[in-house]
Order: sequence, then C-alpha cells, then structure tokens
Amino acid sequence: MITVLVFGDQLNAQIGALAQAKPETHQVLLVEAADKIGSRPWHPQRLHLYLSAMRHFAEELRATGFDVDYQIAPSMRAGLLTHREKHQPTRVVATEPNSYRARQLCLSLGIEMIRSDQFLCHPDDFAAFTKGRKSLKMEDFYRWQRSRLGYLMDADQPVGGRWNFDEDNREPPPKDGHDRWPIPPISELDDIDREVIALLPEDAKGALPHGQWATTRSDALSRLDFFVKHVLPMFGPHEDAMLANNWHLAHSLLSPYLNLGLLLPSEVVDAVQKAFNEGRVPINSAEGFIRQVIGWREFIWNMYWKLMPEYVAMNGLDAQRSLPPLFTSESQTQMNCMSHSLQAVHDYGWAHHIQRLMVLGNFGLIAGINPKDFTDWMSYSFVDAAEWVMVPNVVGMSLHADGGQLATKPYASGGAYIDRMSDYCNGCVYDRKKRVGDNACPYTTLYWDFMLRHDEQFVRNPRVSRQVHAARKLNDVDVVQKRAQQVLSLLDSGDL
Ligand code: FAD
Ligand code: SF4
Repeated sequence: MITVLVFGDQLNAQIGALAQAKPETHQVLLVEAADKIGSRPWHPQRLHLYLSAMRHFAEELRATGFDVDYQIAPSMRAGLLTHREKHQPTRVVATEPNSYRARQLCLSLGIEMIRSDQFLCHPDDFAAFTKGRKSLKMEDFYRWQRSRLGYLMDADQPVGGRWNFDEDNREPPPKDGHDRWPIPPISELDDIDREVIALLPEDAKGALPHGQWATTRSDALSRLDFFVKHVLPMFGPHEDAMLANNWHLAHSLLSPYLNLGLLLPSEVVDAVQKAFNEGRVPINSAEGFIRQVIGWREFIWNMYWKLMPEYVAMNGLDAQRSLPPLFTSESQTQMNCMSHSLQAVHDYGWAHHIQRLMVLGNFGLIAGINPKDFTDWMSYSFVDAAEWVMVPNVVGMSLHADGGQLATKPYASGGAYIDRMSDYCNGCVYDRKKRVGDNACPYTTLYWDFMLRHDEQFVRNPRVSRQVHAARKLNDVDVVQKRAQQVLSLLDSGDL
C-alpha cells in the first residue's frame, strides 16, 4: 500500500495526492501532533476548528472506503515513524504542504511531494508572472489572474469595462449603523466537536466554541451558499467599514474553510461568478470579492514562497517593542476601536480585514511592536491563521517590516481614518483630533511620532512623502514626541 500523508490544512479529497488515491491501493495518514498543539496558547476556537475538522475529515474518508490511520502522536515526525513501522507502506506521498517547515519535514523524511492544486496560482505559475518585472504589484497580478482564469471577463476585456470598482466600494458605514447585516449561521455541535472541546486546555484564552465555525466540508459548503445568497450583494460598499454593534458586517467569514481546504478557491469564485451571471449580485460586489480571493489571497500565498525562509524574521523598521499586555491580558484598554476589535478576537477568534489592518496592525506599526511577537500573537489568536497568510499580512502588509516588498507604503494612520470608517470614536475617552494632551488619541499621537521617527526612510517614498513633510512642519514636534513616550509607557504598563 501507498500512504498519503494529509496535513491538517489539506482537508480536501479533490486535491493533489488524495485526488490520485484509491482505497484499494492507498491508506491515509493524519497526525495530531502534541508538540504543535502545546507550542502556543491557541484560541480555543482555533484549536477546536483544526482538530475537529481533521477528525471529521478522517471519518468522511473512512465512509468512502479509505483505511485511515489517525495518529495522536508527540510530533508529526513521530507519528509518521510509528505509521511506517506498523504499516510498512511501499511509499509515502503528500500534497506539497502549505508551510515551509512542513516541506522541509517532508524532504527530511523522504516523503514524495505531489504538486498542489489547492491554490489557483502555483509558485511555478507565479514565476511566469514575475519574469521580467521590476516591481511586483498586486493590481498587475490580479489582472493577470483574471485574464488567465477567465473570471468576470468578456473575451480579453474586463466585464463592465473596468478592472476595479473600488470607487463604488469603501464607503463609510451607514450613518444609522443599520441592523440589516445577515446573521451568520451557527452549526450544532456534534459528538466529535464535543470530544474535542473536552480536550481544550482549561486556561485557554478566548470564548469556547459555540458552533460559529463549521467543522465539516458539507457545513462549509452551506456557509458558502449562505454568503452568496444573503451577504455578497452587500459585500462591496461596506468592505472597509467598522461598527461597534456588529462584528461581521458583510464579510464572507469563509477564510477558515479556504485555509483548511474545506473549501477550494475555485468553487468559491465559481459560485460568485454564477450569481453575477444570473443577475443576483452587482458588479462592484462580485468584483470586490473576486479580487480578494484570486488577487490578494493568491498574491499573499506566492509572496510567502518568494520570500521564505527569510520572511518570518524580517524587521526592516527595527521595531523592538515586546507585545504589550493589552493583547494578552483581560484588562480592558480604553481605546474604543482596539477594545471592540479585541472583543471580536476573544469571542470568535476573528476580526475583519480593516480591524486587522487599520486597528490592530496599524497600532503594531506605529507603536513599533516587534514583527515576530505580533505575528505570533495573531497566529495563535485567529481561527484562520496559517504561516503562509500571517507572515506576508503581518510582517509585510501591516508592519512594513519587509522593506516594502509587499506593500509600497506603510499602512500607518491616525484616528482620522478610523473615525471616517467607523463609529468607534464617538464612544471613546480619547479625542481622535488631538495629538497632544492627556486625552489625545493614541493613534494620532503615535502616527505623527512614527512619521518623525522614520522620516529619512520614507521621505523619498512618493506615497508617503507628503505626510513626512507635514510631520516635519508640525509646530509642536517636541510636545508630540514627549506625549508619544508617555503613550508608549502607558502601553507597556497596560494602562492605555
Ligand atoms: P472577506 O472580507 O469576506 O474576504 C474574502 C476572502 O478574501 C477571505 O476569506 C480571504 O480568503 C481573502 N483575502 C482577502 N484579503 C486577503 C489577504 N490580505 N490575505 C489573504 N487572503 C485575503 N487572512 C487569513 O486567511 N488568515 C490570516 O491569518 C490573516 N491574517 C491577517 C492579518 C492581518 C494583519 C491582515 C491585515 C490581514 C489578514 N488576513 C488573514 C487577511 C484578511 O483580513 C482575512 O482573510 C479576512 O479578514 C477573513 O475574513 P473573511 O473570510 O470574512 O474575508
Ligand atoms: Fe480609536 Fe482614537 Fe478613535 Fe479612540 S479616538 S476610537 S483610540 S481612533
């Protein structure tokens, strides 16, 4: 027999090595590795989602006739060695794993890797895109993907005559905050879910699993269906909005399933294309969503492979602040935007993109938090985390620690942006317009301090030079820098 080793984020029978396997000739190996489980203080919903989805997947494979060896082992390596000893497979194969470390492990254990088709653009295809280009821009990649994959295309032209409908999107939240955001479905917990919940560490930080995250492919498919029918038509306009009374707005909540393999990007985008063809979704929503999946997601995936293994350790702005206690302690911060974003992380192990980028990530950037520490925190706190997606998004996009290889400008902003895109500032003790004084908005103070700290680095960057010049011209530079030091010491002591 040949053994197919399936990693916990490859839970799909239609991809790579599993797609070629048959119950008569192949056995499947899944390993729950104790060293990985114990390596970090995982959010309980994240740990639950991974373990429960793996256990459900093993059962589904058994139901299709496969003999599945489900190992609970001290490590991946130990699980494989035990399997080899017991079952003596003629070969062990695996779909190319999604992390650098797992690929190294496969190499060291003589596991044959089969080309992965879990993503829409394999790194070998990406090489064709990068060839001859001086700079790698997501927008160019996205257009290249649209043309070659044929989504929202009319022969060789974009449907609707434009590649990008961002102008129609990115609206601030509706003034009344409205309550028409479709309520995300909940799944009933089954025996496997409960068995995994019983294993969760008692001191794990975060709300216990409550059915928010589907743990099977069939449930994930119904979430996709729900999204396309009820949420997608609203997706575009409010993509970047944030509201205190709503954690999900019109986001798909599909990232955990895409990242585990429960859903494939092609079937998600096909469903959106179909809804558009049938006139059920406006072009700005369909285009905005397809851009996220075939553009951003695949760009991030490929930048990870392009810049690894160095990527994880990059720290281009020399940010050395340790992770402040507000991210890990129960004590409440007074920053309203931060408090709501952290509440979403606590309750669901999830926050939407603008909370991640412009509240959490932006703060990490302007406060100078160490990229490795920040990536670690996000990795164990979010249900959809994986190294390939966290590292480019945190080290690259948010903390600008990769020297601008992913994003050509640092996503730094003060309270004004958060105020424009949310209703957080109205209920905050801080004043988003003030950069000095005891009630100055920490974002505003730290934003100016960031521009002053890194002025030499950014003054020649055409996308931020205006802000650097504005910072240099402030008439209260010394007071701003002094207030920034106060803010940072309040941050370190957990009193901000
Ligand atoms: P939607 O808003 O509905 O978007 C649709 C889909 O587009 C997502 O499901 C996702 O698959 C894809 N997508 C959009 N933007 C990105 C992006 N920048 N990178 C990768 N995929 C993208 N995404 C993760 O999947 N896992 C992470 O660990 C993760 N960490 C992030 C950390 C930071 C600091 C930032 C700024 C972004 C991060 N993202 C991550 C990207 C994005 O925020 C999430 O994919 C999105 O919020 C997930 O919610 P959703 O499925 O409702 O997304
Ligand atoms: Fe956040 Fe500043 Fe607005 Fe308060 S005033 S919610 S800290 S941006």
